[in-house]
Parts: sequence; structure tokens; C-alpha cells
Amino acid sequence: MTCEHLVCANCAGPVNEGRCPVCRASRERIHREGGISVPPVVLAALVTLIVIAAVVAQRLAG
Ligand SMILES: [Zn+2]
Repeated sequence: MTCEHLVCANCAGPVNEGRCPVCRASRERIHREGGISVPPVVLAALVTLIVIAAVVAQRLAG
């Protein structure tokens, strides 16, 4: 996904040019999300593991 053809709602310029803070924030967010190569399923599994680990740690501590 690229932001080349997106138009900023704030300055009406191409988001790709980063003319205003809104442009730059949108561009950064899009690029960061596009740069993630980990499938959502893996992320969900990681979150589940973290939650389980937290619960186990709480039980061990309590
Ligand atoms: Zn803008």
C-alpha cells in the first residue's frame, strides 16, 4: 500500500509530499503499517501468548 495518490484533508496536497503535520503523520503511519511483514495471525498469537503469560505470572505471584 502506498500513499502516492492520497490527498490530505487538511492542506489538500498530496500526502506523499508531507506539506503539513497531518500529511506527515498519515504518511508515517501508512509506511509503518505497510512495512510490517508479520501476518496478523502471528500478531494475534503473540498477543494471546503474552496474555497467558501475564495470567500465569499473576497466579504464581499470588
Ligand atoms: Zn496536509
